Amino acid sequence: MSDYRGRFAPSPTGPLHFGSLVTALGSWLLARQAGGQWWVRVEDIDPPREVAGAAQDQLRTLQAFGLHPDAPPVFQSARHALYEAALQDLLARDLAFECHCSRSDLAEHAGIHHGCVPGRRRPDPSVRLRVASDAVVEFEDGLQGPQHQDVHLGVGDFVLRRTDGLWAYQLAVVVDDAQQGISHVVRGADLLDSTPRQILLQRALGLPTPNYLHLALVTDVHGHKLSKSHAALPVDAEEPMPALHLAWKALGQAPLMPQHMTERQSFLAQAAVTFDPTRLPVQLQHDFAATHNGP
Ligand code: GLU
Repeated sequence: MSDYRGRFAPSPTGPLHFGSLVTALGSWLLARQAGGQWWVRVEDIDPPREVAGAAQDQLRTLQAFGLHPDAPPVFQSARHALYEAALQDLLARDLAFECHCSRSDLAEHAGIHHGCVPGRRRPDPSVRLRVASDAVVEFEDGLQGPQHQDVHLGVGDFVLRRTDGLWAYQLAVVVDDAQQGISHVVRGADLLDSTPRQILLQRALGLPTPNYLHLALVTDVHGHKLSKSHAALPVDAEEPMPALHLAWKALGQAPLMPQHMTERQSFLAQAAVTFDPTRLPVQLQHDFAATHNGP
């Protein structure tokens, strides 16, 4: 058994849409091809953005598509203690600090935080990571190639716990990827510019950095990212084949032989052995949204 462990980490903000299916299938294929494991983590730490029942609905949809995780799904909402421990560790070592700045304080600096405005006091401070002036992160993305970000200049001190007390995605994802032993993070390219922040956090916490591969986003005909606001229709769990075929195509793969085209298990078994990562598109895809509900 290889030590590859991948994951798919949806936020339960609605039904699984086509863009998420592409990410799920892409991460599943890469894990299968490596002879590794594929886990699912429900990122339910932002209740204001969540839709009741969406997590279970997404998990059912993954099952309907034949994408079965190799371990029971983990829910971030049950893992507060892990995030708290990481935060306390950073605070104790002065790598993180309570921030009392207001939204307008930040607006004066284009939203970028480089040290607090003195004398401010608020009842609900956020907690931020202290980002040093030489915090330049470089890494090699498995698909997008060499990446470089000056986190100090471009992002500044970033939030780990919000003023409303909720955990920031950056902290939870870093703690979980390490705690779950994730070796390969495969996700949409919309998260490419979060990765340097996550790498900085890993360094601060003494955690390993996994391999990263950011898949091209599936966009609508206008080049907009697919999301609910751009009418990304949910995939149909009752009839998985058309969406599976399109997801396979969105991942740049050549059509399978006709005998594997109609039955889900046969499709996935064949897809896992014929998947060619060198065909993954680096660039945005254009014309999937219009047709993703049909063959
Ligand atoms: N939960 C995030 C999302 O649905 C993905 C996080 C990740 O893959 O790192 O956009």
